[in-house]
Amino acid sequence: MKPPLIVGNWKMNRTPAEARVLAEALVRRLGGDIPAEVVICPPFTALSVVADALQDSDLLLGAQNMHYAKSGAFTGEISPVFLKELGCSYVILGHSERRQFFGETDDLVCRKLRAAREFGLAPIVCLGESAAVHDAGHTMQVIEAQFQGSILPTFPDCPGLTIAYEPIWAIGTGRTAQPEQVAEVHRFLRELAARHAGPACTDGLRIIYGGSVTPENVDRLMANPEIDGVLVGGASLNPDSFARICRFELAARNPE
Ligand code: PEP
Repeated sequence: MKPPLIVGNWKMNRTPAEARVLAEALVRRLGGDIPAEVVICPPFTALSVVADALQDSDLLLGAQNMHYAKSGAFTGEISPVFLKELGCSYVILGHSERRQFFGETDDLVCRKLRAAREFGLAPIVCLGESAAVHDAGHTMQVIEAQFQGSILPTFPDCPGLTIAYEPIWAIGTGRTAQPEQVAEVHRFLRELAARHAGPACTDGLRIIYGGSVTPENVDRLMANPEIDGVLVGGASLNPDSFARICRFELAARNPE
């Protein structure tokens, strides 16, 4: 079984100089026995300085997005090869802010997912329903459609896949989904994956939750065995908060 995964998504925050200070603060707080794999995803412009700061730690580096091509006439885009060379292990794909503000479709996310595999980056594919869909009770239909469009075409070849379930109504709103609600969606995603892939894929599959995760709610979320980790936005910019999230109570997960 893979260890839980905690991902800090800094979004478009912190200059390179500020990012170095934040990364160094995290390294100081997160030495030693963290019960999880921890990934820091700064803006592209800070990847290099954060890579330096993380060098002698167990913290891993990730990117918030990428292009699917290795190189070429794609002005303003970032290749997976560049990310690899800077030391990234992970890449977030299809975040709802990319889908909402930059027109990313399931099809594009799927192309990026294939490229992440090809170039050796572990993909974290985001999906999640809007508030309107949630309120209308159509969450599972939308989740299934996103899964079919952005992930399924790459099956059964799906080693090391992480899916981040991020209900849009919970991102940056302070409105966290209840662990039982999250678990229901994660169970559904696991069933979808199992239907289309062999155990080699589903055994390594991690399904994590994102949406207003804080030090106050992380223990309850991580106590649910369906939740393999968390994707953290706002709270990942505060070293004390993020360190506390990374030290969620493992005892709650494995009661004796
Ligand atoms: C995110 O950036 O994916 C996210 C979940 O943000 P926040 O934790 O701020 O809701």
